[in-house]
Amino acid sequence: MSNSHLHVINHPFVIDSLTHLRDKTTPIFKFRHHSNQLCRLLFGEAIRGLDFKQCQIETPLAKIKSPKLKDEIIIVPILRSGLAMLYSAIDLLPKSKIGFVGLERNEKTAIANKYYWKLPKITKNNIVIITDPMLATGGSVKYVLDQISPQKPKEIRIVTVISAPEGIKLIHRKYPKIHIYTASLDKKLNTQKYIVPGLGDYGDRYFGTE
Ligand code: URA
Repeated sequence: MSNSHLHVINHPFVIDSLTHLRDKTTPIFKFRHHSNQLCRLLFGEAIRGLDFKQCQIETPLAKIKSPKLKDEIIIVPILRSGLAMLYSAIDLLPKSKIGFVGLERNEKTAIANKYYWKLPKITKNNIVIITDPMLATGGSVKYVLDQISPQKPKEIRIVTVISAPEGIKLIHRKYPKIHIYTASLDKKLNTQKYIVPGLGDYGDRYFGTE
């Protein structure tokens, strides 16, 4: 599956951290460390191409004009597991606004059900970055896109740790221009809609629940 709007990030640290995340013997403290490291690198890629403004600054030696990131970013983690990616996003983009979306998937149907929605006002100046570490069926992310895209932000991007072909197809069928940044495009979904080989339940492994 190749697609100019799907970016599989193959930085050496991403590749190494992903192996630690996949390994079922990785303890929680290492899982968190590698998740945070990998997500920082994914967000670093996901802000490529954003606009800069020229700012007048003074180094110890000279006055210069120098670029600073201009775009107003809104990060939208899909609860619960999207929260695990938020720490790295805030680290990298401390001026961002955050919108929270609570979606729970029905374990039998895998259909997204909204239980919380709190977003800042979205304008044409905003870049919205949706975070969900496991892009499986794509149902949750598509639900959020369907709510946010009518508000016409400048752009919406998606950052996910592992994606399945089924999820990518669902999103790009309706939103072919949306850029998706991921560490891996895995093989498939199993009958319970988990990604294979995947890493299991991201939220459970990051937050220590069963
Ligand atoms: N959510 C997860 O945490 N893991 C999967 O494999 C699919 C959805």
